[in-house]
Amino acid sequence: MSNALSDRINSLPVSQTLAMAAKARELKSQGKDIISLSLGEPDFNTPDFIKEAAIEAINQDYNSYTPVDGYVELKEAICAKFERDNNLTYSPNQIVVSTGAKQSIANIAQVLLNPGDEVLLPAPYWVSYSAIATLCEAKFIEIPSSIDTDFKITPEQLEAAITPKTKMIFFNSPNNPSGSIYSEQEYRALAEVLEKHPQIYILSDEIYEHINYGSELFSFAAIESMYDRTITVNGLAKAFAMTGWRIGYIGAPQWIAKACTKMQGQITSGTNCIAQRAAITAVLAEPSKVQYMVDEFKNRRDIMLALLGKVNGFKLNIPEGAFYVFPDISAFFGKTIKGKLINNASDFSMLLLEEANVATVTGEAFGAPDCIRMSYAASELQLREAVKRIKEVLS
Ligand code: GLU
Repeated sequence: MSNALSDRINSLPVSQTLAMAAKARELKSQGKDIISLSLGEPDFNTPDFIKEAAIEAINQDYNSYTPVDGYVELKEAICAKFERDNNLTYSPNQIVVSTGAKQSIANIAQVLLNPGDEVLLPAPYWVSYSAIATLCEAKFIEIPSSIDTDFKITPEQLEAAITPKTKMIFFNSPNNPSGSIYSEQEYRALAEVLEKHPQIYILSDEIYEHINYGSELFSFAAIESMYDRTITVNGLAKAFAMTGWRIGYIGAPQWIAKACTKMQGQITSGTNCIAQRAAITAVLAEPSKVQYMVDEFKNRRDIMLALLGKVNGFKLNIPEGAFYVFPDISAFFGKTIKGKLINNASDFSMLLLEEANVATVTGEAFGAPDCIRMSYAASELQLREAVKRIKEVLS
């Protein structure tokens, strides 16, 4: 019956992060001993002080529809957070709370992109950026980078990618999947290029801001000339181990926030009331309250770098944030391993799944076809076992 489906859905690629996670789950349910390093999801529990706020909200009978753009107390708390962590001044009417940062990004794309507009995606980029742009009938233009530049783009590359049709750039630091973090100086150099092209809007996805291992963080909107053109995206999933609670938000120029609210009002309305009440407590908490998770991620990153550094053919950058390693594995292309010819990163990722029972995500989904993504949001025991199995398959 798929010919009855719309062209829109038929041409939409499946999210590779979710597909790999689903595949890992399915194989596990068949009794296979799969280690899933596919999904980017903290393996911690949501902190008790946030859970208590949610329980209190239930007991206080928070059960009705919420304002489409979020409770005003939550929007005020988000403004205070932007001021505290990002040196950004927003007022509540510039904030829209959504069902995850993914919906925030989809809202922004829907309200700003027309068919034929071009969206710049510095690669590697998160898998859903390209799909979301395509859903708006926009054209996404990859700006490639490689491990040699720590997976960052240069101002010259940005300038060269811009055309009169360029409407947006989707920017993400700390980056999923590379873990790279742009410095203030690097931000300013990119902004200098964008200043010459006032028709371009910047979506700055800062969802991994708290998962950073000591770099100074910076926000695009903190550059004065960029403030009126930037939509800052963030959410609670990664910093507070709240992936399933689905709370994302934006700080944006008021006219964009208003448009996103209008869009959301026709599609999902205000997000879950209990999660929103708990989110007030979460965003107002000092980041130091969740530092124990960041410390543990850093420990695991170091373990992964040490272990994978000893695997011949794996080339690694040092991720400064997020919880992924993104090795360049192109050394294996053209080789036959366990009877399987490895032509590309997808073949390699499938080899690891089938022969080592380790689930990863192909770099092709992130616009980086020489790499695979491995999430280290898993226990140390699992990480050690995963690398051991990978080594055995490759030796
Ligand atoms: N952002 C996470 C990841 O990249 C969650 C999965 C998704 O929504 O793509 O794995």
